[in-house]
Amino acid sequence: MEKMKALVKTRPEPGLWLEDIPVPSIGIDDVLIKVHKTSICGTDVHIYNWNEWARKTIPVPMTIGHEFVGTVAATGSNVHDFKTGDVVSGEGHVACGHCRNCMAGRRHLCWKTQGVGVNRPGAFAEYIRMPITNVWYCDPKIPMDVLCCFDPLGNATHTALSFDALGEDFLITGAGPIGCMATAVARHAGARYVVVTDINPYRLEIAKKMGATLTVDVRYETIQDAQKKLGMKEGFDVSLEMSGNPEALQSILANACHGSKIAILGIFGRETAINWDVVVFNGLTIRSIYGREMYRTWYQMTSMIQSGLDITPVITHRFHHTEYEEGFEVMRSGLSGKVILNWIDE
Ligand code: NAD
Ligand code: ZN
Repeated sequence: MEKMKALVKTRPEPGLWLEDIPVPSIGIDDVLIKVHKTSICGTDVHIYNWNEWARKTIPVPMTIGHEFVGTVAATGSNVHDFKTGDVVSGEGHVACGHCRNCMAGRRHLCWKTQGVGVNRPGAFAEYIRMPITNVWYCDPKIPMDVLCCFDPLGNATHTALSFDALGEDFLITGAGPIGCMATAVARHAGARYVVVTDINPYRLEIAKKMGATLTVDVRYETIQDAQKKLGMKEGFDVSLEMSGNPEALQSILANACHGSKIAILGIFGRETAINWDVVVFNGLTIRSIYGREMYRTWYQMTSMIQSGLDITPVITHRFHHTEYEEGFEVMRSGLSGKVILNWIDE
């Protein structure tokens, strides 16, 4: 059986190991993809670190990773729309296809979703097998570095475009890779002001490059002061929670205008109380975001990139896959945006 390199959680303990494992065999409805580039997600770091969530969730051995771009290497006999060499990425949530939401065309709300690189083999490998339903044909004119970030860009897009953006004032809490990409998306969609908060100056600098009107280091400055600086009087129209920090959610509620819209992507990891009276009296709308819409979000990302959206300032590091330890280390340091691992020699 042909072998390939893959980053595998082989043992239930911190770490990841570069292993030789069999190239996946494909079924009639599958596409075999030769992986060119992958990017590291916070989820991958949790799996590397073997935190409580990972211990509960990840069966070992497991090839991890879900942010990738590659080219079609082989197709199953039922696959007619892809040919060898096509540039493709993939949606990391594999929906069941049969539940009530799947049947109604709302696959992002499938209750039996499987996660690529979480509970089915992932993309940190020379090859990945994807079901045809989850393969996204990429515009080959878009740079591979950008395409390999489509999964997190999809989170940013799905969240930032949850509500009307044109002429609106945005507050984004958390300047991680997703908050920074959401900044650029909100601007592209016509927001007036985009104020971004974090406690990490390195990341606030990236947010500026991505188009933030003002950045706020909440350790030293307040969002109220930012409003004053911009001449705002009534609070933000749209807020995006992208830090996973409960305090950031409180700051959103404290700075929202009446009738404000709030989208929550951040995972708090614990029960988080809010004052519901503020929500009720101020007529706030809160919605949650999980994943991306299949495939509306993917279409929107493509057309925004084709019409000038630039996310390249968020890509800060590139490593060969054999240097993955350095990649994970820089992710853990917080002194990074997106970190890319290369799987082919260029
Ligand atoms: P990240 O952890 O890289 O970034 C979060 C940022 O928030 C960090 O830069 C951190 O310094 C900052 N932060 C911490 N405390 C803060 C505070 N009080 N105020 C403002 N900022 C603060 O995460 P990411 O990869 O950019 O993802 C953003 C969030 O979205 C994470 O919570 C992640 O778990 C979550 N996520 C959710 C989905 C989903 O489908 N719902 C998908 C991907 C990621
Ligand atoms: Zn389903």
